[in-house]
Amino acid sequence: MKNYSSKRILVTGGSGFLGSHLCERLLNEGHEVLCVDNFYTGRRSNIAHLIANPLFEVLRHDICFPLYIEVDEIYNLACPASPIHYQFDPVQTTKTSVHGAINMLGLAKRLKIKILQASTSEVYGDPTVHPQTEAYWGNVNPIGFRSCYDEGKRCAETLFFDYWRQHKLKIKVARIFNTYGPKMHPNDGRVVSNFIMQALRNEDITVYGDGSQTRSFCYVDDLIDGLIKLMNSPDDFTGPVNLGNPTEFTILELARKVIEPTGSKSKIVFNPLPPDDPTQRQPDITLAKEKLNWQPTVPLNDGLKNTIEYFESMIENEKK
Ligand code: NAD
Ligand code: UDP
Repeated sequence: MKNYSSKRILVTGGSGFLGSHLCERLLNEGHEVLCVDNFYTGRRSNIAHLIANPLFEVLRHDICFPLYIEVDEIYNLACPASPIHYQFDPVQTTKTSVHGAINMLGLAKRLKIKILQASTSEVYGDPTVHPQTEAYWGNVNPIGFRSCYDEGKRCAETLFFDYWRQHKLKIKVARIFNTYGPKMHPNDGRVVSNFIMQALRNEDITVYGDGSQTRSFCYVDDLIDGLIKLMNSPDDFTGPVNLGNPTEFTILELARKVIEPTGSKSKIVFNPLPPDDPTQRQPDITLAKEKLNWQPTVPLNDGLKNTIEYFESMIENEKK
């Protein structure tokens, strides 16, 4: 019998790290899920276990081009998120953020449905305010190596709020802070996956700069809870809302936290800091607590344990 509270939900970027977890959670809640992805950084292996589910559908499509489908809700996650990947083809990164947002907003407008944007803490750039609240406008270099991502995501936020003001569209904007967990791409250069892969292979752990820069790491399950709570929040709450774990660590502390549980023989080495690398990042999540009754529950040590196990089994499977 049809479940009348179930929806048909579009997840763009659904084969990526966050998207694949989101697809799985929405399917478990009884929804139909359409995953749209051009497989630029996403992997079939992330969604292979969902393919047999009759409620799940995959469409290879680049959101820089219009999409004509019928759905009840959109989560717009498509966009490479790791600096190596988004800087590989920066023009495409901006196109995905901006043209992609225009296309998905156009779809939401035609269908008169709710749309959620996966924005980022990078809209704050190298912040001069600490911790970052949603009221802070950011400190962003418009012409640097990270700008295709930072400014692309900022422009996407502008488009979301203009569609909201001009067309009365129902929008939700999440500013996601560094998130980690199983299904991260092992070679995407992000710090958690890099350090774990290096530790498991007993290779040097590459700390950039002196490792005093900070990040606040949110476990993927917590983040997915936050995205779903945001989507289901009252229509008058648009965000932007910070979603991230407020517990802040230096990158050097993270390196030590990865070495310990892996029992690795890796040594820490110091490499040059990439340009425009933010020195401090920590979300103020007061708004998410108040409006969504959301806060992360998974401590870094527990989340790292699960992530290490994932990468360990991936390396084991490669050997077979
Ligand atoms: P990811 O690279 O693993 O996933 C992105 C997905 O989008 C991939 O499957 C990729 O193939 C797909 N994609 C890219 N360009 C596309 C296009 N033009 N058309 C269709 N599909 C396209 O990254 P992720 O970590 O899962 O991030 C998902 C979203 O969350 C991104 O929008 C990212 O900016 C945002 N975000 C992530 C983090 C994080 O820490 N993971 C932090 C802030 C924001
Ligand atoms: N970093 C590092 N070693 C690595 C990869 C990253 O020291 O092998 C640092 C990077 O310079 C940054 C932080 O870790 O200060 C987080 O990097 P990541 O690429 O994961 O995300 P960002 O928050 O910079 O987008």
